[in-house]
Amino acid sequence: MCLLALCAPAAQAQTTVIRAGRLIDPETGRAAANQMIVVKGDKIAAVGANLEVPKDATVIDLSKETVLPGLVDSHTHLGLTYKDIPENNYYYLTYVMESTPLRAIQAASNGIQLLNSGFTVVRDLGNNALYTDTAHRVAIEQGWIPGPTVINSGLIIGGMGGQFWPTPEMMKQHNIVYPEYLDADTNDEIVKAVREVMLFGSKVIKICVDCKPWGYTVDEMKLFISEAAKGGLKVAGHVQTPEGATRAIEAGLWSIEHGMALSEEHHKAMAQKGIFLASTDTPFTSYSGSQAAFDGIVAKLKSAWKNGVKITFSTDMDYWKTGNDMTRGELTINFLLTWKAAGIPNADILKAMTTPGYACAQVEKERGPIKPGMFADLIAVKGNPFDDIDALRDVRFVMKNGMVFKRDGVMTPEKFFHAGPVNGWRRR
Ligand SMILES: [Zn+2]
Repeated sequence: MCLLALCAPAAQAQTTVIRAGRLIDPETGRAAANQMIVVKGDKIAAVGANLEVPKDATVIDLSKETVLPGLVDSHTHLGLTYKDIPENNYYYLTYVMESTPLRAIQAASNGIQLLNSGFTVVRDLGNNALYTDTAHRVAIEQGWIPGPTVINSGLIIGGMGGQFWPTPEMMKQHNIVYPEYLDADTNDEIVKAVREVMLFGSKVIKICVDCKPWGYTVDEMKLFISEAAKGGLKVAGHVQTPEGATRAIEAGLWSIEHGMALSEEHHKAMAQKGIFLASTDTPFTSYSGSQAAFDGIVAKLKSAWKNGVKITFSTDMDYWKTGNDMTRGELTINFLLTWKAAGIPNADILKAMTTPGYACAQVEKERGPIKPGMFADLIAVKGNPFDDIDALRDVRFVMKNGMVFKRDGVMTPEKFFHAGPVNGWRRR
């Protein structure tokens, strides 16, 4: 057992210099040729054209590639994978049959797969059994495993029943809704529920605005917002009806989750109020969706973009079809299909995958832009995403917190694995 500081690993900040053939800034839509990025430890120290390479620096040559900030999925569920067989994508069975520990391991695997596809930040918005998402976030932050920066909601708070319609037997005798949802039907219960999820490590509050006819009123949502603010948290609202959307916008929620119930009027009001949209734009593929549903989703996304809503790239990716051999990262990036079908310009798609994503996740002061002082979270692809957004489907290089996770298209995550919580066990 170690009792002395002597045993602590020497914290020698490693210096890495990346030579980028092209460096993209999604916020301005600009690209610069032949740039150098100096990374010291976990942060970016300098960016420029002709920087001196420090002695002892490791040089990574990406001069034939395009370097850009890591991507964001603003709405996912890493600890949930429901299946076509036998539950037909209806996830009661998943949460009855799969324990919280098993789902935490699934989340760890999914997080690695997302990082492999260039996603360095995710908002993980519930349906993660009993706080799988907190455990996953903490494991990454303490330094046990690689993964994206996780902004997690913990249990979703809703009026009685949450998003489900349990039978009396299941709910009253087996408590069977409550690994996934937290009931809050009165003001006192709302305050208590917000405090519970903050106590158990949530970084954003997720509520069901209108999953049930009783839903939440504008005043109740304002109570959520004020209670969450005590912990510095924002409130994300699952919305599935036009009336719910109207109330959520009036209450001033931080973000609206799912876009299907939103009209152009809603989009205009959201733009005016600066409310983020995580519209979860499911593509029509062999494993999900239908043409009719897809046409509707595309039209809504286009309207949100046209009306200047702060749209983020978001997926709600939580399903898998037997026999599908795509990774969770590939399934996530495949949502580009919807953005392309909506005719949104590549620069705006790339922006939605980065700038508003960092802001929506409230990490924009420390993660995102490739500039000095920020965490070194960056990726590289062949080609230029401004010309062909599908370039993002083949991520060749990933750096997270200054450590190389993927190089030449192959995961090389050795540096992320440790026998202890190297970043500190107090992180929670
Ligand atoms: Zn969702």
